[in-house]
Amino acid sequence: MIRMQGVQKWYGKFQVLTDIDLAVAPGERIVVCGPSGSGKSTLIRCINGLETVQQGSIVVDGIDLTAHKRNVDKVRAEVGMVFQQFNLFPHLTILQNCTLAPMRTRGISKEEAQATAMKFLTRVRIPDQAHKYPSQLSGGQQQRVAIARALCMTPRIMLFDEPTSALDPEMVKEVLDTMIGLAEEGMTMLVVTHEMGFARSVADRVIFMADGRIVEQAPPDQFFMHPQHEKTKQFLGQIL
Ligand code: ADP
Ligand code: MG
Repeated sequence: MIRMQGVQKWYGKFQVLTDIDLAVAPGERIVVCGPSGSGKSTLIRCINGLETVQQGSIVVDGIDLTAHKRNVDKVRAEVGMVFQQFNLFPHLTILQNCTLAPMRTRGISKEEAQATAMKFLTRVRIPDQAHKYPSQLSGGQQQRVAIARALCMTPRIMLFDEPTSALDPEMVKEVLDTMIGLAEEGMTMLVVTHEMGFARSVADRVIFMADGRIVEQAPPDQFFMHPQHEKTKQFLGQIL
């Protein structure tokens, strides 16, 4: 579903990604962790074309992002993204947040877009909030809207960038539960998170990044019980 080969990326003279090789199979759930500044956000932003790379190839669901500029639009249509800061449109209602992109970019009718939006808002268990504005919702509810909004585009892959980091502790679980539900339905997911409980119960593979490189990757049991690399041990020592 995702194949990155020999990816190198620089911001000016600073190399932010080095020798990234990564293959993700359909339905696979990957957790990405690592210290702040290690390149996790940059990595997943490359997968939906929010960032370009200087070397290497990135192929998403058979579409080569690095071959043609116009492929970026095709890939974005397949990849849903959820950010730390929700990124909802504050001046639109919850329902409008969910229907805007499908109507604009897919040419779907308002009625159909609204029906789809209500289906996903029901799935994230907040159909009753549809006519409110984002500021009227709790952080956990807003993040669940952001997930529903991404699902309204019927993505084949979902990317999450620290989706619970901005939430009050009591709201983390409701968002993680929503993500676990998605995982159980077979969605291909790449999740940047330090929620190691989530990683243990959901991930097929945990990837550890440091200094722009994938330093280590392993199934969760092995990753947590027998980390190989010194940097991984150090990191786990800090967060566990
Ligand atoms: P992480 O998500 O693991 O914290 P990021 O991918 O956000 O790491 O950032 C990796 C490194 O790249 C950091 O050192 C950060 O300061 C730098 N960086 C991120 N975005 C930019 C940018 N737009 N311009 C220059 N440097 C950046
Ligand atoms: Mg980040």
